[in-house]
Amino acid sequence: MRKLNADVVVVGGGSTGTGVVRDAAMRGYRAILVERADLAQGTSGRFHGLLHSGGRYVVADPLSAAECAAENAVISRIQPAAVERTGGLFIVGPGDDPDFGDVFLAGAKAAQVPAEEISPGAALRLEPRLDPKLRRAFQVLDGTVDGWQLVWSAAASARLWGGQILTYTEIVEIIRGSEGVRGVRAVDRKTGEAIEIECGFLINCAGPWAGRVATLAGVRPVEVVPGRGVMVAMAHRLVNRVVNRCAKPADGDILVPVHTVCVIGTTDVKVADPDNLAIPRAEVRQMLEAGEALIPGFQQARALHAWAGARPLVKDDRVDDSDTRHMSRGMAVIDHAARDGVAGLVTVGGGKLTTYRLMAQHAVDAMENQTGRRHPCRTADEICPGQTPGRNYLVSCRLQEREADRLDDQIICECELVSRRALLGLWDEFPQASLDDLRRQSRLGMGPCQGGFCSARAAGLACATGKADGAQATGLLRDFLANRWLGLAPVLYGDQVRQTALDYWIFQGALDVDHLPAAPNRPAEPPAAEDQGSPPTRRQASLACSAGPAVAGEGVSL
Ligand SMILES: Cc1cc2nc3c(=O)[nH]c(=O)nc-3n(C[C@H](O)[C@H](O)[C@H](O)COP(=O)(O)OP(=O)(O)OC[C@H]3O[C@@H](n4cnc5c(N)ncnc54)[C@H](O)[C@@H]3O)c2cc1C
Repeated sequence: MRKLNADVVVVGGGSTGTGVVRDAAMRGYRAILVERADLAQGTSGRFHGLLHSGGRYVVADPLSAAECAAENAVISRIQPAAVERTGGLFIVGPGDDPDFGDVFLAGAKAAQVPAEEISPGAALRLEPRLDPKLRRAFQVLDGTVDGWQLVWSAAASARLWGGQILTYTEIVEIIRGSEGVRGVRAVDRKTGEAIEIECGFLINCAGPWAGRVATLAGVRPVEVVPGRGVMVAMAHRLVNRVVNRCAKPADGDILVPVHTVCVIGTTDVKVADPDNLAIPRAEVRQMLEAGEALIPGFQQARALHAWAGARPLVKDDRVDDSDTRHMSRGMAVIDHAARDGVAGLVTVGGGKLTTYRLMAQHAVDAMENQTGRRHPCRTADEICPGQTPGRNYLVSCRLQEREADRLDDQIICECELVSRRALLGLWDEFPQASLDDLRRQSRLGMGPCQGGFCSARAAGLACATGKADGAQATGLLRDFLANRWLGLAPVLYGDQVRQTALDYWIFQGALDVDHLPAAPNRPAEPPAAEDQGSPPTRRQASLACSAGPAVAGEGVSL
């Protein structure tokens, strides 16, 4: 058994947990973060990608709106490479109530969320694909944020301040003494090794799993209601700004440009288990239709991938617990010493990725309220490592980088412009990485072909450079394809069927990956947050192919 020691253990390596470990380490605490999978593999890697301006909440939740507006500026400054400052529009469409625009503007003014009305013509000049019958338009400071980049740069900052980060390590027991929490027991999911960490404090940042982690401490239930949201990525960046519907929040009313694609979302359905999030085809269709309401012709673009995340909503007694849309999106910090008489424990939940830094600040403040020690929070002042001050992400950044080295480096993934050197560098840094771990770091296989060409190349590269033997490389490839399939199955219609058929013939026809000898792979991932079964069998794939050439928008199986 490995034994470690810390002032504070942080459970959960999503945005909240990495924000907390960074904050605690910067205040001088010996902090260890424990995450059962890879960083940002929970909700923070399965969200919509919007860096809120606050506009979404100005009418229903002005406090959240003001927090978003302030944190939007902070995150853009301290983690510029994770943020694209696209700007955003709120659009009153032909079927929407034009008077809501006045309510929106008044709310924005009260919450100090910058918003300005522009003419429909000006909006159409900015975003020519919008419905030309739009009635009113408002400009806001929405942006887009890459959750993985944000979480890793916060983690890098925490490490710089002495924080430790243990990934693929699951907390299985919280040890309590007469004084409260005094340690945790965990298991290394890759090696099975038991780990015991002695600590004086534990901050529970397990997102939709926070209720389960609180149960390990034997406190009164923390009621986290997972609200499942389905999102669909389209193969083109149909808009360059975030486009919101200017109406009371509803399903599918935000379109977010993310890197080279755009994402429509989201639904909001209460679910029992955040480890098992189905992606119902009816919800995918609902999203596509919602996209059509914002951008006529939306459904003729190719739907690339669908995924689901679970909002870690903390139960609000005023709202029926089946109504997750109207549960507060605000943050909840629970001091278990005050609530349950268990010292050394704080749970933080709710909130948004946009406000993660502020949530972390409140959580560490709550710890200091219990312990009576005081150190100022400095997370808003210091830029995270690896970032150039003032240089935000631009969609053209990657092309610029590749143009610089295109003559002396190979491209492994054309869609996402991932080079051989970049991939090998990541493999050196994370020798145990699966292709999915590398995907989260580099976006390998996330573009229009969904890994059809690059995944075999990446597996071949692992083999050719001694990072894996043949059987291990085949295992890496199979796992990657199985995971991609989870998000492909719900969008198999139109042009995506052609792409899937092509990929099928590459992997099964040319490479016969199902029958190559493969080693079982490292590391064991937790159940994926979707349940769409296995990759296509030969029969399923040939059925998809035999559907013949499909016209985009016509459903083979939707
Ligand atoms: C559909 C959807 C769309 C969203 N869109 C946006 C958006 O556009 N903009 C925005 O700002 N916010 C958005 N949000 C909200 C935002 O994504 C979340 O509030 C935020 O990511 C939550 O982060 P977290 O760290 O609290 O939880 P998570 O990211 O879920 O992290 C919790 C972590 O705890 C780990 N864990 C669980 N149990 C254990 C254990 N026993 N031991 C160790 N680790 C454990 C999990 O593996 C997980 O990684 C969206 C949410 C959803 C669901």
